[in-house]
Amino acid sequence: MEQKKKRILIVEDEKDIAEIIDYNIKKQGYDTDVAYDGEQGYAFAISGRYDLILLDVMLPKMDGFEICRRVRERLDTPIIMLTAREEERDKITGLELGADDYMTKPFSLGELLSRIKANIRRYSGESVVRTAESDAASEDEIVKIDDLEINCSRYSVKKGGVEISLSKQQYELLAFLAKNRGKKFRQEDLLEQVWGYDDYYGDLRTVDVTIARLRKQIEDNPSEPRFIKNKRGVGYYME
Ligand code: CA
Repeated sequence: MEQKKKRILIVEDEKDIAEIIDYNIKKQGYDTDVAYDGEQGYAFAISGRYDLILLDVMLPKMDGFEICRRVRERLDTPIIMLTAREEERDKITGLELGADDYMTKPFSLGELLSRIKANIRRYSGESVVRTAESDAASEDEIVKIDDLEINCSRYSVKKGGVEISLSKQQYELLAFLAKNRGKKFRQEDLLEQVWGYDDYYGDLRTVDVTIARLRKQIEDNPSEPRFIKNKRGVGYYME
């Protein structure tokens, strides 16, 4: 049986760039839609029809950060931000708003395609609506560390019995460290094993920023983390 094609949304106001990306993604066997401004991009994005969203930052009508923030209130669809700006601050803003990855123009199409593949692979299944209640967790695989409870079947995390809303990316990272308690992982290892980036040299900052966001969500005091620790020069780990 033929597998249903994955569908990618491209939000990019520069028509040349949008066309090149669109052409190359289609060639890889994906379905695509293209939006040329922020409002249209946002309307498409929240339809929940997409397996991945490529999101330019500088857009007319609504910028990429705003779209990312709004989409994240409702959907876990992987988002790769695209920007012309080199600024580190932009990258951190994007990741803090819940983007899964970030690429600075000009980027190689090969690298873009490999990141698309990795993000889609990681994000298997359907878009998860954040407000969805989970019930009857009897058969679920649950990892408990103190008052932190990670439900590996339902992709949900509770602390002190209260549900915490995490992005897919934050969740994957937390679940990975929790399942491998005691082991220390370098940023490179996490990029490879959690992000699935085996065929390119990822930006190590991506790991640090995601860890920082995760700590904000689960730690009482993010600067003195109880759950996710870091041994300088060795890596991140959970005890
Ligand atoms: Ca633009």
